[in-house]
Amino acid sequence: MKTVADVLKLIKDEEVAYVDVRFTDPKGKLQHVTLDVDLVDEDFFEEGFMFDGSSIAGWKSIDQSDMMLILDPSSAYLDPFYAEKTLCVHCNVVEPDTREAYSRDPRGTAAKAEAYLKSTGIGDTSYFGPEAEFFLFDDVRYSVTPQKVSFQVDAEAAAWNTDAEIEGGNLGHRATFKGGYFPVNPIDEAQDIRGEMLSTMKRMGIKVDKHHHEVATCQHELGMIFGGLVEQADNIQKYKYVIHNVAHAYGKTVTFMPKPMKGDNGSGMHVNMSIWKDGKPLFAGDKYADLSQEALYFIGGILKHAKSLNALTNPSTNSYKRLIPGFEAPVLRAFSARNRSGCVRIPWTESPKAKRVEARFPDPAANPYLAFSALLMAGLDGIKNKIDPGPASDKDLYDLPPEELAAIPTVCGSLREALDSLAADHDYLLAGDVFTRDQLEGYMALKWEEVYAYEHTPHPIEYAMYY
Ligand code: GLN
Ligand code: MG
Ligand code: MG
Ligand code: MG
Repeated sequence: MKTVADVLKLIKDEEVAYVDVRFTDPKGKLQHVTLDVDLVDEDFFEEGFMFDGSSIAGWKSIDQSDMMLILDPSSAYLDPFYAEKTLCVHCNVVEPDTREAYSRDPRGTAAKAEAYLKSTGIGDTSYFGPEAEFFLFDDVRYSVTPQKVSFQVDAEAAAWNTDAEIEGGNLGHRATFKGGYFPVNPIDEAQDIRGEMLSTMKRMGIKVDKHHHEVATCQHELGMIFGGLVEQADNIQKYKYVIHNVAHAYGKTVTFMPKPMKGDNGSGMHVNMSIWKDGKPLFAGDKYADLSQEALYFIGGILKHAKSLNALTNPSTNSYKRLIPGFEAPVLRAFSARNRSGCVRIPWTESPKAKRVEARFPDPAANPYLAFSALLMAGLDGIKNKIDPGPASDKDLYDLPPEELAAIPTVCGSLREALDSLAADHDYLLAGDVFTRDQLEGYMALKWEEVYAYEHTPHPIEYAMYY
């Protein structure tokens, strides 16, 4: 953990010219202001930095717009992209008069969620291991050859791509639909780009472990080692920042939107979670899949609240195009150690220390601070109220007879449904004032705007179906 003294030393040793103060808005976008290094001394860390919060969507109105950033030295890293040597620090937003956490600051919510876990006595540490997938496309502004990315051909084309090849020409060694997982180059065309992304993250101090092509055409994933809630939410912001900027340097563009291509896999952000107490893993035990009773209750809480969680873990209109059968994304509110078609999976491990629960419905459009906090709160609600998750579903859920399948509850089918679910079920988020009513109201208002924008716009497929 870097302290203020460490950061000041780093500034001196590295001859840093600028300090970039960064924070995350409610929708999950990283924002920044760049300060001359001479402004930043020990007092500056104490005093904080005033800024106008009125232009950040979902924050304060113009008449009460003064806000304060408090720098968290433990998050500091050297920017890998700027020409001038710049140190970046992630910040919490506080009320300037009271210095209390601003209730709509996502990073503040995540810090409160960590504190709340301790206050319950259930555990003292939560670990998060998010796996955010993404698509890497040619950026049309830089492309000199005609676009050949596969989303331009009929996505319903068979796995052998014959229809697509007849229509769109021979794809050469490009990955076919669902054909990206794991052939070597040249089918895996982005080895060097991913390698540069991962090395860049490592130089910024993130513990990384791997990178690989994912199942869909043009889809990829980089792996980070698990860490604390705030730390990993910070890391997802750094992950997206690096991935976008390395891609940009190659004349490419990345999207974390959950379902950019019809007929191929979407991008998930599976979230692996565990709780520890007094240096011992709370989720390892002698129940189903070597889980503890607490872990089963935790799963019970996640499954019970999954539909309201969707508003935070799957917060885009596009998210619900991913949550359909047939693309390794979950639909059913079920759990299993074996199959991947339910909302929660227990990854196989022999080590009690690695015992964890994987929520598979979240996607990378989520604000990581809010999504991880909400998942933890749902799981803790499960433990506090001993919510039984029911029996595990070890058969492939989509092979079940229709009557059995129909009996299993599902996740939401739209952002509209998710927002209605959050409006009806959010007391578990308010425990310990981790989330606040005001914050959820502000968040939902922002998201309703997206629902209306989407619902009020004629869709291309409607012309095909109804013109
Ligand atoms: N892309 C899948 C999803 O949408 C996950 C695939 C995988 O990582 N096995 O969740
Ligand atoms: Mg993975
Ligand atoms: Mg994956
Ligand atoms: Mg996974």
